[in-house]
Amino acid sequence: MTVIPDKNYLLSKKFDGLSSHYRNWQNNFSGMILYHKLDGSFSNGWKFSEGLVVSSVKCKELSDLPIELTKSCLAWYYVVWIEICDGNNSTKGCYEYETWYYLYTTCDEGGGGDGGYQSNTPNVDLIYNASSTLSSSQKQKLETAIVEFKTKSPIFATIWQSLINNGLSLKFIINPYTPVIDPITGVRAPAAISADGTLIEFREEECIISDNLEEELIHKYQRNFYGSQFVDTKRNFEFETKVIRDYCFAKEYGYCRAVAAYNFQSQEVIDSYVIWILDLVLS
Ligand SMILES: [Zn+2]
Repeated sequence: MTVIPDKNYLLSKKFDGLSSHYRNWQNNFSGMILYHKLDGSFSNGWKFSEGLVVSSVKCKELSDLPIELTKSCLAWYYVVWIEICDGNNSTKGCYEYETWYYLYTTCDEGGGGDGGYQSNTPNVDLIYNASSTLSSSQKQKLETAIVEFKTKSPIFATIWQSLINNGLSLKFIINPYTPVIDPITGVRAPAAISADGTLIEFREEECIISDNLEEELIHKYQRNFYGSQFVDTKRNFEFETKVIRDYCFAKEYGYCRAVAAYNFQSQEVIDSYVIWILDLVLS
């Protein structure tokens, strides 16, 4: 991971900017955080402004997207900024110099063209594959769903962070014919993730809520976690996801919602499942 603080941030922190590290951002950090793969090549990155992520940084050489001239683009430089002082006290004064190294150019997704453009869907922008087809109101609902997902449980926050660090990129669409039909209600699933984990579809706009997103993002996390061992026809990945959701919910709210129970055969099984989840939370 590379931390590149803004010059003004360095000045305000008296050169302490480089003490940021994973999951422990300094308050109001401004600059860029770049992640690298094990072989040292660039993976992905975030641009921060006063502690908040304002955009993602992607390596254009790895991207299949052409740079569009209508977007607002920024050239990024690695700035080495050094202050040297004579002696141990400041009586002789200090001087500063800086060296700029060109890194690459980034462009805002759907940029506004004027330099002051700021997205109102920054979390969506981080993961939104350009082949997605959501309307702006649907993107806004997705943004709300992501923010709720990230904030309703520390475990979900960790899952989100892991997905982002793995360069999460998803195609989002609305599809009235989502693949699974509930055997009891006859209603199609509100959301689904494709077998290859690259597409999330919602049955309709009203289905873009954090509960539905939560289910599919945990499935995505399972794919990353198990790697080539993930076979969705052989592993009970649906049950595992619902155990995680029930556990996180019970830990935050003190009771078991039992979303796993839809598939249970008797009240007895449901009751013992609820007791098991609450035991896990309390242990
Ligand atoms: Zn599922």
